[in-house]
Amino acid sequence: MIGMSVLGSTGSIGVSTLDVVARHPDKYRAVALSANRDVDGLEKQCLAFCPDYAVMADAKAAQELEQRLAGRGLPTAVLAGSAGLETIAALPGVDYVMAAIVGAAGLLPTLAAVRAGKRILLANKESLVVSGELFMREAAAHGAEILPIDSEHNAVFQCMPANFQQGLGQVGVTRILLTASGGPFRAMPLKQLVDVTPAQACAHPNWSMGRKISVDSATMMNKGLEVIEACWLFHTRPDKVKVVLHPQSVIHSMVEYQDGSILAQLGNPDMRTPIAHAMAWPERIESGVGSLDLFEVARLDFEEPDLARFPCLRLAYQAIEVSGTAPAILNAANEVAVDAFLNERIPFSRISGLIEDVLNQLPAEQNPSFELLLEVDTQARRLAEQLVAKQV
Ligand code: NAD
Ligand code: MG
Repeated sequence: MIGMSVLGSTGSIGVSTLDVVARHPDKYRAVALSANRDVDGLEKQCLAFCPDYAVMADAKAAQELEQRLAGRGLPTAVLAGSAGLETIAALPGVDYVMAAIVGAAGLLPTLAAVRAGKRILLANKESLVVSGELFMREAAAHGAEILPIDSEHNAVFQCMPANFQQGLGQVGVTRILLTASGGPFRAMPLKQLVDVTPAQACAHPNWSMGRKISVDSATMMNKGLEVIEACWLFHTRPDKVKVVLHPQSVIHSMVEYQDGSILAQLGNPDMRTPIAHAMAWPERIESGVGSLDLFEVARLDFEEPDLARFPCLRLAYQAIEVSGTAPAILNAANEVAVDAFLNERIPFSRISGLIEDVLNQLPAEQNPSFELLLEVDTQARRLAEQLVAKQV
């Protein structure tokens, strides 16, 4: 039996993970679940999965959950805060940790799982964006296996040769081709982008996801974060990672080889496929996702992304070129900007400008420690907040 901790179990990825777990009660057990402050959601999951531990990041919510679970006679121990998250990431009875907290808040618990040498099912791309180099170094030092959940990176992983860790050049790989749907505003006239609402930005044409990543998809910052994520996961440079607009979201990404071959992974846009892949790897298990009907898909389109329409993608390429603390600054400013947009404090069209202003005002430093990265994250958030406040 494989024990799993699910960090962020009430979110979009967390719910899909538990759906796959529930399909294989003979193979996987949810040992620990966690959420930020969604007491109702975590209570329901505890009733269904009876985990040993449940963690609420919010202390008050933890108290409330503890009372409710005791009232129902459940033996689940309730922990609180970042200490609780780090505890369930490193439990002896846990083999796999699903890292599905959204944002840089996922970094420390995911790092705790890495340091405990677990198999990490990595959905929380922000932790790699903030600290990719150190994160991968820690994983190697502690023998933690990193399996990508992000559909593009999971697709790339599936198309890579087994020995890709030797270096992409060594194994004949020339480029990673990351596909992107272009989000809900791919074809909207630029002038109209000023007035789009959070609800419009969160209505992704192909994928159903949490609100932050939905806005990231609409700005294409999501793809920018994924370029950075790909550089660290596959030990390569940004000029070897090409973004390809592919509106149907059927090809989840591709790997190009020096002999002219391109290998692609296709499937219905449902995160249970990459989740099941990473849970079972190197084997395969049923995920609940139906087979792709190629006759219904009928055609596949590809376009070059327009960096004038999607300045966030350009900013992400620039940040990974600069490297050091720049991607952490980019990520922190983006989290504040997206939150401000979702709370209707800034218009959609201001998101990229706000991030660029923060990047311009905070100089990047090279070879940062984790401590410096966390400090820079705080500084960048503070500056971004000030810029939002100035504007309102
Ligand atoms: P979501 O908003 O639906 O869920 C986030 C989860 O994290 C929830 O359980 C929430 O309670 C918890 N959480 C939020 N803030 C927290 C905090 N400060 N401390 C502790 N827990 C906290 O998000 P999601 O769409 O499931 O995305 C999760 C991660 O997976 C993100 O990093 C995202 O980029 C990545 N991802 C998501 C998808 C997708 O299809 N949803 C695809 C690829 C990658
Ligand atoms: Mg993705």
